[in-house]
Amino acid sequence: TPLDKLRNFSIIAHIDHGKSTLADRLIQRTGGLAEREMSAQVLDNMDIEKERGITIKAQTVRLEWKGHVLNLMDTPGHVDFAYEVSRSLAACEGALLVVDAAQGVEAQTLANVYQSIEHDHEIIPVINKIDLPAAEPERVKTEIEDIIGIDTSNAVLASAKSGIGIDEILDAIVAHIPPPKGDINAPLKAMLVDSWYDPYLGVVILIRVIDGSIRKGQQIKFMNADTTHLVDRVGAFRPKIEQLPDLGPGEIGFITAQIKEVAQTMVGDTITDAKRPTAEPLPGFKEVQSVVFCGLFPVDAADFDKLRESISKLRLNDASFTFEMESSAALGFGFRCGFLGLLHLEIIQERLTREYDLDLITTAPSVVYQIELTHPDPAGITQIDLHNPADMPDVNKIKTISEPWIQATIYVPDEYLGGILKLCQDRRGIQMNLTYVGGRAQAVYELPLNEVVFDFYDRLKSLSKGYASFDYEQIGYREGDLVKMSILVNEEPVDALSMIVHRSTAETRGRGMVERLKELIPRHLFKIPIQAAIGGKVIARETISAMRKDVTAKCYGGDASRKRKLLDKQKKGKAKMREYGSVSIPQEAFIAALRMG
Ligand code: GDP
Ligand code: MG
Repeated sequence: TPLDKLRNFSIIAHIDHGKSTLADRLIQRTGGLAEREMSAQVLDNMDIEKERGITIKAQTVRLEWKGHVLNLMDTPGHVDFAYEVSRSLAACEGALLVVDAAQGVEAQTLANVYQSIEHDHEIIPVINKIDLPAAEPERVKTEIEDIIGIDTSNAVLASAKSGIGIDEILDAIVAHIPPPKGDINAPLKAMLVDSWYDPYLGVVILIRVIDGSIRKGQQIKFMNADTTHLVDRVGAFRPKIEQLPDLGPGEIGFITAQIKEVAQTMVGDTITDAKRPTAEPLPGFKEVQSVVFCGLFPVDAADFDKLRESISKLRLNDASFTFEMESSAALGFGFRCGFLGLLHLEIIQERLTREYDLDLITTAPSVVYQIELTHPDPAGITQIDLHNPADMPDVNKIKTISEPWIQATIYVPDEYLGGILKLCQDRRGIQMNLTYVGGRAQAVYELPLNEVVFDFYDRLKSLSKGYASFDYEQIGYREGDLVKMSILVNEEPVDALSMIVHRSTAETRGRGMVERLKELIPRHLFKIPIQAAIGGKVIARETISAMRKDVTAKCYGGDASRKRKLLDKQKKGKAKMREYGSVSIPQEAFIAALRMG
Protein backbone atom coordinates (compact mmCIF):
# COMPACT_ATOMS: atom_id res chain seq x y z
CA THR A 1 0.00 0.00 0.00
CA PRO A 2 1.46 3.40 -0.93
CA LEU A 3 2.20 5.58 2.09
CA ASP A 4 -0.28 8.31 1.14
CA LYS A 5 -3.12 5.77 1.16
CA LEU A 6 -2.32 4.58 4.71
CA ARG A 7 -3.71 5.81 8.03
CA ASN A 8 -2.86 4.32 11.41
CA PHE A 9 -4.94 5.30 14.41
CA SER A 10 -5.95 4.17 17.86
CA ILE A 11 -9.03 4.87 19.92
CA ILE A 12 -8.66 6.56 23.28
CA ALA A 13 -11.60 6.32 25.63
CA HIS A 14 -12.45 6.00 29.25
CA ILE A 15 -13.99 2.64 30.20
CA ASP A 16 -17.59 2.39 28.99
CA HIS A 17 -17.48 5.45 26.79
CA GLY A 18 -18.00 3.24 23.75
CA LYS A 19 -14.63 2.31 22.30
CA SER A 20 -15.51 -1.30 21.52
CA THR A 21 -18.93 -0.46 20.17
CA LEU A 22 -17.44 2.15 17.87
CA ALA A 23 -14.69 -0.21 16.70
CA ASP A 24 -17.32 -2.79 15.80
CA ARG A 25 -19.29 -0.20 13.86
CA LEU A 26 -16.22 0.83 11.89
CA ILE A 27 -15.49 -2.80 11.02
CA GLN A 28 -19.08 -3.36 10.00
CA ARG A 29 -19.33 -0.19 7.91
CA THR A 30 -16.13 -0.93 6.00
CA GLY A 31 -17.29 -4.43 5.21
CA GLY A 32 -14.90 -6.46 7.33
CA LEU A 33 -17.70 -8.60 8.66
CA ALA A 34 -21.26 -9.39 7.66
CA GLU A 35 -24.05 -8.50 10.08
CA ARG A 36 -24.45 -12.10 11.23
CA GLU A 37 -20.75 -12.36 12.06
CA MET A 38 -20.84 -9.42 14.40
CA SER A 39 -20.81 -11.24 17.68
CA ALA A 40 -20.90 -9.04 20.73
CA GLN A 41 -17.81 -6.87 20.52
CA VAL A 42 -15.40 -8.40 18.10
CA LEU A 43 -12.29 -6.81 19.51
CA ASP A 44 -12.75 -7.89 23.11
CA ASN A 45 -12.44 -11.61 22.72
CA MET A 46 -11.51 -12.91 26.13
CA ASP A 47 -14.35 -13.65 28.56
CA ILE A 48 -12.81 -11.66 31.35
CA GLU A 49 -12.33 -8.73 29.00
CA LYS A 50 -15.99 -8.84 28.07
CA GLU A 51 -17.17 -9.05 31.65
CA ARG A 52 -14.95 -6.31 32.91
CA GLY A 53 -15.34 -4.27 29.78
CA ILE A 54 -11.63 -3.70 29.38
CA THR A 55 -9.18 -4.68 26.70
CA ILE A 56 -6.24 -6.65 28.01
CA LYS A 57 -4.36 -7.32 24.80
CA ALA A 58 -3.96 -4.87 21.97
CA GLN A 59 -5.77 -5.93 18.84
CA THR A 60 -5.63 -4.42 15.44
CA VAL A 61 -7.85 -4.46 12.41
CA ARG A 62 -7.32 -3.35 8.84
CA LEU A 63 -10.20 -1.38 7.35
CA GLU A 64 -10.68 -0.26 3.77
CA TRP A 65 -12.39 3.04 3.13
CA LYS A 66 -12.61 4.94 -0.14
CA GLY A 67 -9.33 3.62 -1.52
CA HIS A 68 -7.45 3.95 1.75
CA VAL A 69 -6.20 1.36 4.22
CA LEU A 70 -7.02 2.36 7.79
CA ASN A 71 -5.37 0.39 10.59
CA LEU A 72 -7.28 0.55 13.85
CA MET A 73 -5.13 -0.29 16.82
CA ASP A 74 -7.05 -1.14 19.96
CA THR A 75 -5.10 -0.34 23.12
CA PRO A 76 -5.31 -1.94 26.56
CA GLY A 77 -7.62 0.05 28.78
CA HIS A 78 -6.00 -0.14 32.19
CA VAL A 79 -3.16 1.54 34.07
CA ASP A 80 -1.44 -1.79 34.67
CA PHE A 81 -0.70 -2.03 30.96
CA ALA A 82 0.67 1.46 30.44
CA TYR A 83 3.82 0.31 28.61
CA GLU A 84 1.83 -1.77 26.10
CA VAL A 85 -0.35 1.27 25.55
CA SER A 86 2.70 3.42 24.87
CA ARG A 87 3.99 0.97 22.23
CA SER A 88 0.60 0.74 20.54
CA LEU A 89 0.40 4.52 20.42
CA ALA A 90 3.93 4.70 19.03
CA ALA A 91 2.70 2.60 16.09
CA CYS A 92 0.08 5.19 15.09
CA GLU A 93 -0.05 8.72 13.70
CA GLY A 94 -3.40 9.69 15.13
CA ALA A 95 -6.19 8.86 17.52
CA LEU A 96 -9.92 9.09 17.93
CA LEU A 97 -10.70 10.53 21.32
CA VAL A 98 -14.04 9.03 22.27
CA VAL A 99 -15.86 10.88 25.03
CA ASP A 100 -19.29 9.95 26.35
CA ALA A 101 -21.59 12.91 25.68
CA ALA A 102 -23.34 12.42 29.02
CA GLN A 103 -20.27 11.72 31.19
CA GLY A 104 -17.60 14.04 29.87
CA VAL A 105 -13.84 13.78 30.26
CA GLU A 106 -12.51 11.25 32.80
CA ALA A 107 -9.05 10.63 34.29
CA GLN A 108 -8.25 7.60 32.16
CA THR A 109 -9.07 9.57 29.04
CA LEU A 110 -6.71 12.31 30.18
CA ALA A 111 -3.79 10.01 30.87
CA ASN A 112 -4.06 8.39 27.45
CA VAL A 113 -4.70 11.58 25.58
CA TYR A 114 -1.54 13.16 26.99
CA GLN A 115 0.43 10.12 25.90
CA SER A 116 -1.11 10.41 22.48
CA ILE A 117 -0.14 14.09 22.30
CA GLU A 118 3.41 13.15 23.33
CA HIS A 119 3.52 10.84 20.31
CA ASP A 120 2.60 13.84 18.14
CA HIS A 121 -0.73 12.34 17.20
CA GLU A 122 -3.41 14.16 15.33
CA ILE A 123 -6.45 13.79 17.58
CA ILE A 124 -10.02 13.70 16.34
CA PRO A 125 -12.58 14.15 19.13
CA VAL A 126 -15.64 11.91 18.84
CA ILE A 127 -18.52 12.86 21.08
CA ASN A 128 -20.28 9.52 21.46
CA LYS A 129 -23.73 8.52 22.76
CA ILE A 130 -25.45 11.64 21.43
CA ASP A 131 -28.61 9.51 21.30
CA LEU A 132 -28.84 9.62 25.10
CA PRO A 133 -31.36 12.08 26.56
CA ALA A 134 -28.68 13.24 29.02
CA ALA A 135 -26.20 13.96 26.21
CA GLU A 136 -24.65 17.42 26.33
CA PRO A 137 -22.32 17.47 23.33
CA GLU A 138 -21.65 21.22 23.47
CA ARG A 139 -20.72 21.11 27.16
CA VAL A 140 -18.44 18.11 26.53
CA LYS A 141 -16.76 19.90 23.63
CA THR A 142 -16.04 22.87 25.87
CA GLU A 143 -14.73 20.49 28.50
CA ILE A 144 -12.37 18.88 25.98
CA GLU A 145 -11.05 22.30 25.02
CA ASP A 146 -10.76 23.53 28.62
CA ILE A 147 -9.37 20.44 30.24
CA ILE A 148 -7.35 18.76 27.52
CA GLY A 149 -6.64 21.82 25.45
CA ILE A 150 -7.32 20.39 22.02
CA ASP A 151 -9.33 21.96 19.25
CA THR A 152 -12.81 20.51 18.82
CA SER A 153 -13.73 22.26 15.59
CA ASN A 154 -13.35 18.97 13.68
CA ALA A 155 -15.13 16.93 16.39
CA VAL A 156 -17.63 14.37 15.17
CA LEU A 157 -20.93 13.90 16.97
CA ALA A 158 -21.72 10.19 16.98
CA SER A 159 -23.72 7.37 18.36
CA ALA A 160 -21.86 4.12 18.01
CA LYS A 161 -24.96 2.34 19.17
CA SER A 162 -27.38 3.84 16.62
CA GLY A 163 -24.77 4.16 13.86
CA ILE A 164 -24.80 7.97 13.69
CA GLY A 165 -21.63 9.73 12.50
CA ILE A 166 -19.77 6.60 11.39
CA ASP A 167 -19.06 7.75 7.80
CA GLU A 168 -18.02 11.16 9.13
CA ILE A 169 -15.52 9.49 11.47
CA LEU A 170 -14.02 7.44 8.63
CA ASP A 171 -13.80 10.55 6.41
CA ALA A 172 -12.21 12.53 9.24
CA ILE A 173 -9.54 9.85 9.70
CA VAL A 174 -8.60 10.09 6.01
CA ALA A 175 -8.74 13.90 6.00
CA HIS A 176 -7.01 14.75 9.28
CA ILE A 177 -4.68 11.95 10.33
CA PRO A 178 -1.34 12.23 8.52
CA PRO A 179 -0.08 9.25 6.50
CA PRO A 180 2.96 7.43 7.95
CA LYS A 181 6.49 8.15 6.74
CA GLY A 182 9.00 5.49 5.80
CA ASP A 183 11.62 4.36 3.31
CA ILE A 184 10.92 1.24 1.26
CA ASN A 185 14.57 0.97 0.22
CA ALA A 186 16.07 1.12 3.72
CA PRO A 187 16.81 -2.08 5.66
CA LEU A 188 13.79 -3.57 7.45
CA LYS A 189 12.94 -1.82 10.70
CA ALA A 190 9.71 -2.80 12.44
CA MET A 191 8.37 -2.55 15.97
CA LEU A 192 7.07 -5.54 17.88
CA VAL A 193 3.82 -4.07 19.18
CA ASP A 194 2.26 -7.11 20.81
CA SER A 195 2.28 -10.88 20.70
CA TRP A 196 0.03 -13.67 21.82
CA TYR A 197 -0.32 -17.41 21.56
CA ASP A 198 -2.73 -18.86 19.06
CA PRO A 199 -3.40 -22.61 19.23
CA TYR A 200 -3.31 -22.93 15.42
CA LEU A 201 -0.67 -20.41 14.43
CA GLY A 202 1.66 -20.51 17.43
CA VAL A 203 2.95 -17.15 18.59
CA VAL A 204 1.43 -14.34 16.53
CA ILE A 205 3.37 -11.10 16.46
CA LEU A 206 1.74 -7.77 15.77
CA ILE A 207 4.16 -5.39 14.06
CA ARG A 208 4.38 -1.90 12.70
CA VAL A 209 6.82 -1.58 9.80
CA ILE A 210 8.85 1.63 9.88
CA ASP A 211 11.24 1.13 6.94
CA GLY A 212 11.81 -1.59 4.36
CA SER A 213 9.46 -4.53 4.06
CA ILE A 214 8.86 -7.94 5.54
CA ARG A 215 7.81 -11.08 3.67
CA LYS A 216 7.48 -14.82 4.01
CA GLY A 217 10.81 -16.69 3.96
CA GLN A 218 12.76 -13.72 5.27
CA GLN A 219 15.36 -14.25 8.00
CA ILE A 220 14.66 -11.67 10.69
CA LYS A 221 16.36 -10.58 13.86
CA PHE A 222 14.89 -9.31 17.16
CA MET A 223 17.48 -6.73 18.12
CA ASN A 224 16.95 -6.52 21.91
CA ALA A 225 16.30 -10.23 22.39
CA ASP A 226 19.19 -10.95 20.01
CA THR A 227 17.49 -13.92 18.33
CA THR A 228 16.86 -14.77 14.67
CA HIS A 229 13.76 -16.35 13.16
CA LEU A 230 12.36 -17.35 9.80
CA VAL A 231 9.11 -15.60 8.83
CA ASP A 232 6.51 -18.15 7.76
CA ARG A 233 3.38 -15.99 7.52
CA VAL A 234 2.67 -12.33 6.91
CA GLY A 235 -0.80 -10.84 7.03
CA ALA A 236 -3.42 -8.61 8.53
CA PHE A 237 -6.66 -8.93 10.49
CA ARG A 238 -9.76 -7.71 8.73
CA PRO A 239 -10.65 -8.79 11.44
CA LYS A 240 -10.41 -12.32 10.04
CA ILE A 241 -6.88 -13.39 9.21
CA GLU A 242 -5.79 -12.58 5.69
CA GLN A 243 -2.34 -13.53 4.44
CA LEU A 244 -0.48 -10.89 2.44
CA PRO A 245 2.64 -11.16 0.25
CA ASP A 246 4.42 -8.53 2.36
CA LEU A 247 4.05 -5.54 4.66
CA GLY A 248 5.73 -2.33 3.57
CA PRO A 249 6.68 0.88 5.35
CA GLY A 250 3.95 2.37 7.53
CA GLU A 251 1.91 -0.82 7.53
CA ILE A 252 0.56 -2.66 10.56
CA GLY A 253 -0.01 -6.39 10.46
CA PHE A 254 1.10 -9.70 11.86
CA ILE A 255 3.81 -12.25 11.26
CA THR A 256 4.43 -15.74 12.55
CA ALA A 257 7.93 -17.17 12.68
CA GLN A 258 7.72 -20.61 14.29
CA ILE A 259 8.05 -19.18 17.77
CA LYS A 260 6.79 -21.40 20.57
CA GLU A 261 6.51 -19.08 23.55
CA VAL A 262 5.33 -15.53 23.97
CA ALA A 263 8.15 -15.09 26.48
CA GLN A 264 10.58 -15.16 23.52
CA THR A 265 9.09 -11.92 22.23
CA MET A 266 9.37 -8.57 23.93
CA VAL A 267 6.94 -5.74 23.36
CA GLY A 268 8.78 -2.74 21.94
CA ASP A 269 11.62 -4.80 20.42
CA THR A 270 12.97 -3.86 16.99
CA ILE A 271 12.64 -6.40 14.19
CA THR A 272 15.16 -6.14 11.37
CA ASP A 273 16.55 -8.16 8.49
CA ALA A 274 19.12 -10.65 9.78
CA LYS A 275 21.38 -10.25 6.73
CA ARG A 276 20.96 -6.54 6.20
CA PRO A 277 20.21 -5.12 9.63
CA THR A 278 19.23 -1.55 10.40
CA ALA A 279 21.89 0.50 12.17
CA GLU A 280 19.95 1.53 15.29
CA PRO A 281 17.11 -0.13 17.19
CA LEU A 282 13.96 1.91 17.83
CA PRO A 283 13.95 4.14 20.91
CA GLY A 284 11.69 3.56 23.90
CA PHE A 285 12.26 -0.15 24.50
CA LYS A 286 11.75 -1.31 28.09
CA GLU A 287 11.86 -4.76 29.55
CA VAL A 288 8.63 -5.43 31.46
CA GLN A 289 8.93 -5.61 35.20
CA SER A 290 6.56 -6.99 37.76
CA VAL A 291 5.32 -4.41 40.23
CA VAL A 292 3.13 -6.42 42.56
CA PHE A 293 3.99 -9.81 44.03
CA CYS A 294 1.98 -12.36 45.94
CA GLY A 295 2.00 -16.02 46.80
CA LEU A 296 -0.47 -18.39 45.17
CA PHE A 297 -1.06 -21.66 47.00
CA PRO A 298 -3.45 -24.52 46.29
CA VAL A 299 -6.11 -24.96 48.98
CA ASP A 300 -5.64 -28.68 48.52
CA ALA A 301 -1.93 -29.57 48.65
CA ALA A 302 -2.62 -32.38 46.15
CA ASP A 303 -3.35 -29.71 43.51
CA PHE A 304 0.22 -28.42 43.51
CA ASP A 305 1.22 -30.11 40.24
CA LYS A 306 -1.98 -28.96 38.58
CA LEU A 307 -1.27 -25.42 39.74
CA ARG A 308 2.26 -25.60 38.33
CA GLU A 309 0.97 -26.81 34.97
CA SER A 310 -1.77 -24.19 34.83
CA ILE A 311 0.57 -21.36 35.75
CA SER A 312 3.08 -22.52 33.13
CA LYS A 313 0.34 -22.56 30.50
CA LEU A 314 -0.80 -19.05 31.36
CA ARG A 315 2.78 -17.84 31.28
CA LEU A 316 3.10 -19.17 27.69
CA ASN A 317 0.72 -16.44 26.68
CA ASP A 318 1.66 -13.73 29.11
CA ALA A 319 5.31 -12.89 29.39
CA SER A 320 4.63 -10.05 31.82
CA PHE A 321 3.70 -12.43 34.58
CA THR A 322 6.47 -14.25 36.45
CA PHE A 323 6.56 -17.06 38.97
CA GLU A 324 8.91 -19.13 41.08
CA MET A 325 8.30 -21.85 43.60
CA GLU A 326 7.77 -20.83 47.18
CA SER A 327 7.15 -22.77 50.34
CA SER A 328 5.35 -21.47 53.36
CA ALA A 329 5.08 -23.12 56.75
CA ALA A 330 1.40 -22.18 56.87
CA LEU A 331 0.37 -22.83 53.30
CA GLY A 332 2.74 -25.51 52.06
CA PHE A 333 4.06 -25.39 48.49
CA GLY A 334 3.00 -22.76 46.04
CA PHE A 335 4.37 -20.01 43.82
CA ARG A 336 5.57 -16.48 44.32
CA CYS A 337 4.14 -14.62 41.35
CA GLY A 338 4.85 -11.18 39.94
CA PHE A 339 2.32 -9.00 38.14
CA LEU A 340 2.12 -5.65 36.37
CA GLY A 341 -0.45 -4.48 38.90
CA LEU A 342 -3.41 -5.55 40.96
CA LEU A 343 -5.80 -5.90 38.04
CA HIS A 344 -3.30 -8.13 36.27
CA LEU A 345 -3.07 -10.20 39.48
CA GLU A 346 -6.85 -10.51 39.64
CA ILE A 347 -7.07 -11.56 36.02
CA ILE A 348 -4.52 -14.35 36.44
CA GLN A 349 -6.12 -15.46 39.70
CA GLU A 350 -9.54 -15.48 38.07
CA ARG A 351 -8.33 -17.45 35.07
CA LEU A 352 -6.68 -20.06 37.29
CA THR A 353 -9.88 -20.44 39.26
CA ARG A 354 -12.24 -20.37 36.32
CA GLU A 355 -10.42 -21.95 33.41
CA TYR A 356 -8.28 -24.37 35.37
CA ASP A 357 -10.73 -25.05 38.16
CA LEU A 358 -8.30 -24.46 41.02
CA ASP A 359 -9.06 -23.40 44.60
CA LEU A 360 -6.38 -20.92 45.56
CA ILE A 361 -5.14 -18.95 48.51
CA THR A 362 -3.53 -15.65 47.67
CA THR A 363 -1.21 -14.06 50.20
CA ALA A 364 -1.11 -10.32 50.79
CA PRO A 365 0.05 -8.52 47.65
CA SER A 366 3.34 -6.77 48.17
CA VAL A 367 5.44 -4.34 46.21
CA VAL A 368 9.21 -4.70 45.80
CA TYR A 369 11.20 -3.01 48.56
CA GLN A 370 14.81 -2.01 48.26
CA ILE A 371 16.82 -2.83 51.32
CA GLU A 372 20.25 -1.45 52.01
CA LEU A 373 22.24 -3.65 54.36
CA THR A 374 24.55 -2.33 57.06
CA HIS A 375 27.28 -4.79 56.00
CA PRO A 376 27.80 -6.67 52.76
CA ASP A 377 26.38 -10.20 52.84
CA PRO A 378 28.71 -13.19 52.15
CA ALA A 379 28.30 -12.56 48.41
CA GLY A 380 29.39 -8.95 48.85
CA ILE A 381 25.95 -7.51 48.17
CA THR A 382 24.75 -4.46 50.08
CA GLN A 383 21.43 -3.82 48.41
CA ILE A 384 18.64 -6.35 47.90
CA ASP A 385 15.26 -6.25 46.23
CA LEU A 386 12.74 -7.77 48.60
CA HIS A 387 9.81 -9.49 46.86
CA ASN A 388 8.49 -11.39 49.84
CA PRO A 389 8.07 -10.01 53.37
CA ALA A 390 8.94 -13.49 54.67
CA ASP A 391 12.49 -13.04 53.34
CA MET A 392 13.14 -9.81 55.23
CA PRO A 393 16.61 -9.79 56.82
CA ASP A 394 17.09 -9.20 60.56
CA VAL A 395 16.34 -5.65 61.63
CA ASN A 396 19.89 -5.11 62.89
CA LYS A 397 21.24 -5.92 59.41
CA ILE A 398 19.11 -3.28 57.72
CA LYS A 399 20.40 0.22 57.12
CA THR A 400 17.45 1.58 55.12
CA ILE A 401 14.28 0.35 53.47
CA SER A 402 12.90 2.14 50.42
CA GLU A 403 9.54 1.70 48.77
CA PRO A 404 8.17 2.57 45.33
CA TRP A 405 6.08 5.74 44.99
CA ILE A 406 3.53 6.71 42.39
CA GLN A 407 1.96 9.90 41.19
CA ALA A 408 -1.80 9.49 41.10
CA THR A 409 -4.26 11.66 39.24
CA ILE A 410 -7.78 11.45 40.59
CA TYR A 411 -10.73 12.99 38.93
CA VAL A 412 -13.89 13.32 41.01
CA PRO A 413 -17.13 15.32 41.22
CA ASP A 414 -16.85 18.04 43.91
CA GLU A 415 -19.36 16.51 46.29
CA TYR A 416 -17.17 13.44 46.88
CA LEU A 417 -13.88 15.31 47.09
CA GLY A 418 -13.73 15.49 50.90
CA GLY A 419 -13.83 11.71 51.33
CA ILE A 420 -11.24 11.18 48.62
CA LEU A 421 -8.81 13.70 50.09
CA LYS A 422 -9.11 12.01 53.47
CA LEU A 423 -8.46 8.63 51.87
CA CYS A 424 -5.30 9.95 50.20
CA GLN A 425 -4.15 11.45 53.49
CA ASP A 426 -4.77 8.21 55.37
CA ARG A 427 -2.62 6.47 52.78
CA ARG A 428 0.32 8.79 53.40
CA GLY A 429 -0.41 10.80 50.28
CA ILE A 430 1.25 14.12 49.53
CA GLN A 431 -0.98 16.56 47.70
CA MET A 432 0.76 18.03 44.66
CA ASN A 433 -2.08 19.82 42.97
CA LEU A 434 -5.82 20.40 43.25
CA THR A 435 -7.80 22.09 40.50
CA TYR A 436 -11.49 22.49 39.75
CA VAL A 437 -13.09 22.44 36.34
CA GLY A 438 -16.83 22.55 35.85
CA GLY A 439 -18.09 20.87 39.04
CA ARG A 440 -15.21 18.44 39.11
CA ALA A 441 -11.92 18.32 40.92
CA GLN A 442 -8.63 16.97 39.73
CA ALA A 443 -6.37 15.96 42.59
CA VAL A 444 -2.78 15.00 42.02
CA TYR A 445 -1.12 13.06 44.82
CA GLU A 446 2.14 11.30 45.42
CA LEU A 447 1.46 8.06 47.23
CA PRO A 448 3.42 4.99 48.29
CA LEU A 449 2.48 2.19 45.88
CA ASN A 450 2.12 -0.14 48.84
CA GLU A 451 -0.81 1.93 50.14
CA VAL A 452 -2.51 1.72 46.77
CA VAL A 453 -2.16 -1.93 45.82
CA PHE A 454 -4.51 -3.30 48.44
CA ASP A 455 -7.90 -1.73 48.15
CA PHE A 456 -7.35 1.91 47.21
CA TYR A 457 -9.22 1.65 43.94
CA ASP A 458 -12.20 -0.09 45.56
CA ARG A 459 -12.31 2.52 48.33
CA LEU A 460 -12.09 5.30 45.80
CA LYS A 461 -15.00 3.88 43.86
CA SER A 462 -17.18 3.31 46.91
CA LEU A 463 -16.46 6.74 48.41
CA SER A 464 -17.51 8.38 45.16
CA LYS A 465 -20.41 6.08 44.26
CA GLY A 466 -18.35 4.99 41.26
CA TYR A 467 -17.72 8.46 39.86
CA ALA A 468 -14.06 8.93 40.72
CA SER A 469 -11.47 7.82 38.23
CA PHE A 470 -7.85 7.16 38.87
CA ASP A 471 -4.64 6.83 36.97
CA TYR A 472 -1.04 6.51 38.10
CA GLU A 473 2.57 6.32 37.09
CA GLN A 474 5.59 5.19 39.06
CA ILE A 475 7.97 7.90 40.17
CA GLY A 476 10.75 5.91 41.83
CA TYR A 477 11.89 4.74 45.26
CA ARG A 478 11.93 6.68 48.51
CA GLU A 479 13.28 5.76 51.88
CA GLY A 480 10.59 5.17 54.48
CA ASP A 481 10.10 4.17 58.09
CA LEU A 482 9.02 0.67 57.17
CA VAL A 483 8.81 -2.37 59.38
CA LYS A 484 7.88 -6.00 59.05
CA MET A 485 4.76 -6.87 60.97
CA SER A 486 4.43 -10.52 61.94
CA ILE A 487 1.25 -12.22 62.97
CA LEU A 488 1.56 -14.86 65.67
CA VAL A 489 -1.08 -17.46 66.29
CA ASN A 490 -0.57 -19.35 69.50
CA GLU A 491 2.89 -17.78 69.84
CA GLU A 492 4.02 -18.96 66.41
CA PRO A 493 4.56 -16.58 63.47
CA VAL A 494 2.37 -17.29 60.42
CA ASP A 495 4.66 -16.41 57.51
CA ALA A 496 1.87 -16.03 54.96
CA LEU A 497 0.33 -13.25 57.00
CA SER A 498 3.44 -11.18 57.55
CA MET A 499 3.60 -7.87 55.75
CA ILE A 500 5.69 -4.76 55.46
CA VAL A 501 3.96 -1.65 56.76
CA HIS A 502 4.76 1.94 57.57
CA ARG A 503 5.43 2.40 61.27
CA SER A 504 2.72 5.06 61.53
CA THR A 505 0.01 2.69 60.30
CA ALA A 506 1.38 -0.50 61.87
CA GLU A 507 -0.76 -0.38 64.98
CA THR A 508 -4.04 0.21 63.13
CA ARG A 509 -3.24 -2.47 60.57
CA GLY A 510 -2.10 -4.89 63.27
CA ARG A 511 -5.19 -4.33 65.39
CA GLY A 512 -7.47 -4.79 62.38
CA MET A 513 -5.72 -8.01 61.47
CA VAL A 514 -5.86 -9.64 64.92
CA GLU A 515 -9.49 -8.60 65.38
CA ARG A 516 -10.45 -10.20 62.10
CA LEU A 517 -8.50 -13.35 62.87
CA LYS A 518 -10.23 -13.61 66.22
CA GLU A 519 -13.55 -13.76 64.41
CA LEU A 520 -12.27 -16.17 61.79
CA ILE A 521 -10.36 -18.81 63.70
CA PRO A 522 -12.67 -21.31 65.39
CA ARG A 523 -12.36 -21.98 69.08
CA HIS A 524 -10.20 -24.80 70.24
CA LEU A 525 -10.03 -26.71 73.48
CA PHE A 526 -7.42 -24.23 74.71
CA LYS A 527 -6.97 -20.48 74.73
CA ILE A 528 -5.31 -19.08 71.59
CA PRO A 529 -3.47 -15.77 71.70
CA ILE A 530 -3.33 -13.87 68.41
CA GLN A 531 -0.70 -11.17 68.21
CA ALA A 532 0.67 -8.64 65.80
CA ALA A 533 4.31 -7.90 66.44
CA ILE A 534 7.13 -5.78 65.14
CA GLY A 535 10.47 -7.35 65.92
CA GLY A 536 9.88 -8.81 69.36
CA LYS A 537 7.37 -6.17 70.37
CA VAL A 538 3.67 -7.01 70.42
CA ILE A 539 1.58 -4.11 69.10
CA ALA A 540 -1.86 -5.71 69.14
CA ARG A 541 -3.31 -8.73 70.81
CA GLU A 542 -6.57 -10.68 71.01
CA THR A 543 -7.36 -13.99 72.62
CA ILE A 544 -9.71 -16.68 71.41
CA SER A 545 -11.16 -18.22 74.52
CA ALA A 546 -11.25 -21.98 74.96
CA MET A 547 -14.34 -23.99 74.09
CA ARG A 548 -16.31 -24.65 77.21
CA LYS A 549 -17.98 -27.88 76.23
CA ASP A 550 -16.82 -30.78 74.16
CA VAL A 551 -19.42 -30.55 71.40
CA THR A 552 -18.28 -33.76 69.76
CA ALA A 553 -19.77 -35.55 72.77
CA LYS A 554 -23.14 -35.01 71.10
CA CYS A 555 -22.11 -37.49 68.43
CA TYR A 556 -21.92 -40.36 70.80
CA GLY A 557 -24.93 -42.50 71.30
CA GLY A 558 -26.61 -41.24 68.11
CA ASP A 559 -27.42 -43.60 65.30
CA ALA A 560 -24.38 -45.00 63.51
CA SER A 561 -24.98 -43.62 60.00
CA ARG A 562 -25.61 -40.10 61.27
CA LYS A 563 -22.42 -40.34 63.26
CA ARG A 564 -20.48 -41.47 60.23
CA LYS A 565 -21.89 -38.60 58.17
CA LEU A 566 -20.85 -36.12 60.82
CA LEU A 567 -17.38 -37.57 60.96
CA ASP A 568 -17.14 -37.37 57.16
CA LYS A 569 -18.12 -33.75 57.32
CA GLN A 570 -15.51 -33.10 59.95
CA LYS A 571 -12.90 -34.78 57.82
CA LYS A 572 -13.75 -32.63 54.81
CA GLY A 573 -13.67 -29.54 56.95
CA LYS A 574 -10.32 -30.54 58.35
CA ALA A 575 -8.82 -31.02 54.92
CA LYS A 576 -9.52 -27.37 54.32
CA MET A 577 -7.78 -26.33 57.52
CA ARG A 578 -4.15 -25.49 57.87
CA GLU A 579 -2.68 -26.94 61.00
CA TYR A 580 -0.71 -24.24 62.66
CA GLY A 581 1.24 -25.61 65.55
CA SER A 582 -1.65 -27.14 67.36
CA VAL A 583 -4.11 -24.62 65.93
CA SER A 584 -6.20 -25.23 62.85
CA ILE A 585 -6.79 -22.16 60.72
CA PRO A 586 -9.54 -22.43 58.11
CA GLN A 587 -8.71 -21.37 54.55
CA GLU A 588 -11.33 -18.66 54.61
CA ALA A 589 -9.54 -17.09 57.55
CA PHE A 590 -6.45 -16.43 55.47
CA ILE A 591 -8.38 -14.97 52.61
CA ALA A 592 -10.60 -12.84 54.80
CA ALA A 593 -7.75 -11.69 57.02
CA LEU A 594 -5.80 -10.49 54.03
CA ARG A 595 -8.68 -8.44 52.78
CA MET A 596 -7.95 -5.04 54.18
CA GLY A 597 -10.55 -3.45 56.42
P1 GDP B 1 -15.71 0.63 26.07
O1 GDP B 1 -15.51 0.23 27.50
O2 GDP B 1 -15.20 2.01 25.83
O3 GDP B 1 -15.19 -0.37 25.09
O4 GDP B 1 -17.30 0.77 25.87
P2 GDP B 1 -18.32 -0.21 25.15
O5 GDP B 1 -18.23 -0.08 23.68
O6 GDP B 1 -18.21 -1.56 25.74
O7 GDP B 1 -19.67 0.49 25.58
C1 GDP B 1 -20.06 0.63 26.93
C2 GDP B 1 -21.57 0.67 27.02
O8 GDP B 1 -22.06 1.83 26.37
C3 GDP B 1 -22.25 -0.51 26.33
O9 GDP B 1 -23.34 -0.88 27.11
C4 GDP B 1 -22.68 0.06 24.99
O10 GDP B 1 -23.81 -0.60 24.49
C5 GDP B 1 -22.99 1.49 25.36
N1 GDP B 1 -22.81 2.40 24.23
C6 GDP B 1 -21.75 2.48 23.40
N2 GDP B 1 -21.95 3.43 22.48
C7 GDP B 1 -23.17 3.97 22.73
C8 GDP B 1 -23.97 5.01 22.13
O11 GDP B 1 -23.59 5.65 21.15
N3 GDP B 1 -25.16 5.27 22.71
C9 GDP B 1 -25.62 4.60 23.79
N4 GDP B 1 -26.81 4.92 24.27
N5 GDP B 1 -24.93 3.63 24.37
C10 GDP B 1 -23.71 3.31 23.86
MG1 MG C 1 -14.23 -2.17 25.38
